[in-house]
Amino acid sequence: MSSSGDLINPQTTHVALFPSAGMGHLIPFLRFGALLLGRGNCRVTLITINPTVSLAESQYTSQFLSAYPQVTHLQLNLIPVDPATVNSDDPFWLRFEAVRRSAHLLRPLLSSASPPLSALVHDVSLISPVIPIAESLSLPSYVLFPASARMLSFVSYFPTFAAAGFGSANSDPFLRIPGISPIPRSSVPPPLLDPNSLFSKILMEDSPNLSRLNGIFINSYDGMDTESVEALNGGKVSKGSPPLSLVGPFPPFEFEKTEWSTPSEWLDEQAEGSVVFVSFGSRTALSRDQITEVGEGLVKSGCRFFWVVKDKKVDKEDDESLNEVVGGELLERMKGQGLVVKQWVDQGEILGHRAVGGFLSHCGWNSVMEAAHKGVRVLAWPQHGDQKINAEVVRASGLGIWVEIWGWSSESVVKRDEIAERVRELMGSESLKLQAAKIGDVARKASEVGGNRDNTLERLIGEWEKEK
Ligand code: UDP
Ligand code: UDP
Repeated sequence: MSSSGDLINPQTTHVALFPSAGMGHLIPFLRFGALLLGRGNCRVTLITINPTVSLAESQYTSQFLSAYPQVTHLQLNLIPVDPATVNSDDPFWLRFEAVRRSAHLLRPLLSSASPPLSALVHDVSLISPVIPIAESLSLPSYVLFPASARMLSFVSYFPTFAAAGFGSANSDPFLRIPGISPIPRSSVPPPLLDPNSLFSKILMEDSPNLSRLNGIFINSYDGMDTESVEALNGGKVSKGSPPLSLVGPFPPFEFEKTEWSTPSEWLDEQAEGSVVFVSFGSRTALSRDQITEVGEGLVKSGCRFFWVVKDKKVDKEDDESLNEVVGGELLERMKGQGLVVKQWVDQGEILGHRAVGGFLSHCGWNSVMEAAHKGVRVLAWPQHGDQKINAEVVRASGLGIWVEIWGWSSESVVKRDEIAERVRELMGSESLKLQAAKIGDVARKASEVGGNRDNTLERLIGEWEKEK
């Protein structure tokens, strides 16, 4: 294997990566890109959207490009979309739709790549617009799926679910997808119970086209979410499912470290495994009432904590001070017991810190995989989207616990006493700690040099090489 700075043989495989909006989509693409570059026999072109929704997306992209100057960077300049023509008020979903409507601009970028491309790996939200372009260029196309294999089972099964009236015609509280344990209807992302939502419309168009992909990659590894991986690869969920390859777990890379991320001095002073890390990802803001309950709950738990507060969905708009959002009096009472910040932090690094033993997480899939990789137990608190389906995987694997009655964030405010009790349960449980440590061992084994992840990447690069 050569280092990322080495010269690449012009005959090597050339892969284009094309993520869509949001850090939950961008980060896995950049980590996947870094893994491919680390093999030394793969050239990478990164296609990013312009403009991005968040500052974090632009920052991460430029850090990746500085760390890997051999990467070709192309930008897809988006055609502006009138928000009134999109049935969503979520800035990230609006941008997904804008990318879909601008996807035809991808063709000249792909066809003029030099050396010619061997494969295109693109975002899950771009299946129908991108496949015809890739097919016309005889370019094998793949999706890097940003959630669990269980969520992918649901996405694959979606046309059947939609044809059956979104489950509304029968009273079965479970969605029974062949080959996997039933998904409670209450776990289905709420927009996907509404035939008119943007998310439903995209899946109605895209899911039947999954079979036209050459493959799907997922940030997971052998031993995690196995039931869904086997059902998908065994063709049980839907006919003609493309092969699913496990290319994880994705580690955090050097390029992700920034001067705007948290210094870890406070963590360094804490006892091993004593701290619960609390964060809800890159695009989930809790209500002010919920923020207060979380803060009071953490104090009541008596546990050490590291809490990342987020007040607005989009970082550019998150401009109120911690004092304004959490309140000076509460912050004062937290001193000594916990660290509270309102900024981007190096989550991957923090979860790997010896002081961190637990993670109160919304269960975005990147976060779940980071916890698994570091053997950190999880208190799952899914807020929206695919997060309950991911939380089911967390619970089933033994990586953590999930208090189902807490529901979606839009349904209720979870009270401080409940939060305190569950945080104490998470941090006090020896059995959870042991099981999470075991999961960490398996995850790390998969990511060792010569392990399953390496072998899978080598196989894929070999396949692309042959097709040239
Ligand atoms: N993340 C981070 N620092 C932050 C917030 C998020 O490094 O302050 C990273 C986190 O480690 C993960 C990604 O952003 O890799 C968020 O993706 P995830 O799928 O967990 O959730 P989403 O943000 O898409 O809801
Ligand atoms: N997803 C999909 N097709 C799309 C967009 C999203 O299948 O066009 C799935 C995928 O599993 C993704 C999940 O929906 O991880 C949630 O997407 P995202 O994180 O962007 O939205 P959120 O769940 O935060 O509302």
